[in-house]
Amino acid sequence: MLKSPKKRYGVIECPNCRGLGLVCSSAKSHRCPYCGRVIKFGWGRVKSLYWSYSPRVASRVLARLKLERSK
Ligand SMILES: [Zn+2]
Repeated sequence: MLKSPKKRYGVIECPNCRGLGLVCSSAKSHRCPYCGRVIKFGWGRVKSLYWSYSPRVASRVLARLKLERSK
């Protein structure tokens, strides 16, 4: 089965705890792994830091951002 080329992977910031999470553009919501808050997309408040067509690139960016924040 072919995957949709329109699908994107993003790094978003939880509006509740500012934790970083990896999301897929086909999903309508995302549960924050840190605080359990369900983040619904389409909210202006949801901050997306990065988008990529490659899940590998997006997860690499997520790991780098987490590392930068832990410093
Ligand atoms: Zn959170």
